[in-house]
Amino acid sequence: MSKILILPGDGIGKEIVAQAIKVINSLNDNNDMGMSLEDGLIGGAAYDETGSPLPDETIKLAKNCDSILLGAVGGPKWESLERNLRPERGLLGIRSELDLFSNLRPAILYPQLANASSLKSEIVSGLDLMIVRELVGGIYFGKPRGIEIKDGERFGINSATYYESEIARIGHSAFQIAQKRGKRVCSVDKANVLEVCELWREVMEEVSKDYPDVTLSHLYVDNAAMQLVKDPKQFDVIVTSNLFGDVLSDCAAMLTGSIGMLPSASLNKNNYGMYEPIHGSAPDISGKDIANPLATILSVSMMLRYSLNQEELAKKIDIAVIKVLDKGYRTADIAFEGDKIVGTMEMGDLIVEALES
Ligand code: NAD
Repeated sequence: MSKILILPGDGIGKEIVAQAIKVINSLNDNNDMGMSLEDGLIGGAAYDETGSPLPDETIKLAKNCDSILLGAVGGPKWESLERNLRPERGLLGIRSELDLFSNLRPAILYPQLANASSLKSEIVSGLDLMIVRELVGGIYFGKPRGIEIKDGERFGINSATYYESEIARIGHSAFQIAQKRGKRVCSVDKANVLEVCELWREVMEEVSKDYPDVTLSHLYVDNAAMQLVKDPKQFDVIVTSNLFGDVLSDCAAMLTGSIGMLPSASLNKNNYGMYEPIHGSAPDISGKDIANPLATILSVSMMLRYSLNQEELAKKIDIAVIKVLDKGYRTADIAFEGDKIVGTMEMGDLIVEALES
């Protein structure tokens, strides 16, 4: 029995996670493997109830489970809070508390959604790339940081820092994933300007020696951004730092046309993971039953694949999603003329129906 901690969070988080729970319940009812679910608080919801966006109780629950499924955090209600009380701090906090250093963000373009991309379909059709982003280091965590008064004016500072061990472990993660895919890793940095990236490149070269079956290439981040838009299918696995990965993975997400379709995984060195859609809490559509739950449902598939070693069940979910898209059902964010538009809950029901058919 695997213990899953459910952290719905804020905004559409609760609506989309509810659909993923339907899927988990269906898998439990129809397969040998059992997943027991526990609820926890994070983000604004946690702040409202406990005064902290990441209560100690949540960390305790997280450390006692096999995997976490998260919805999304944040919203205008909490934007004026002190920085360390904001919902997003809860998210950064849990990633760092559990040492979830390896963030996997696949960008897959389903042929049924080729129209949804802003790029020409011949450029993106069949896209299947994986961005492996370092998640608990780099400029998002480096010190010194802050805003202070210096020379009589306000002065902002953040620090881009990496130990070689931090670079090596994300490198190993990327190479191991590439071994199960197209056996190509492209490391993205800015080594022509930043010393921390010079070290990044050196360490990636060193790590690559352990993986003779995988080809390593390097791109500067500005070129990588151009190449992603020009010819995204050239990539198999992209490995990069926290900041560059944040930006490039959103860019890759847009290549697929909908932020509501993309799952993600954040893993520690034992493949313990937190799984979540890449999008935020979408306050503009919250409570309207129109959010796309597929990214969250596909996050369950990633959880089964990367943490729970249940490739067959993962595939069942992936196939159920394809079946429902094939039948022309779409939530509003991915709908075109002629599609059958359904709400969040109906989409969840359709996936369960496809799973069980
Ligand atoms: P967002 O991802 O919440 O929304 C961006 C746009 O995409 C919105 O128009 C939204 O309606 C749409 N969208 C997002 N998810 C969708 C879905 N499942 N189905 C259909 N449409 C969807 O980003 P934002 O508006 O910049 O941020 C809103 C809040 O979410 C902020 O508080 C931000 O800090 C937070 N946020 C949280 C996470 C996270 O929890 N991992 C990530 C990004 C942003």
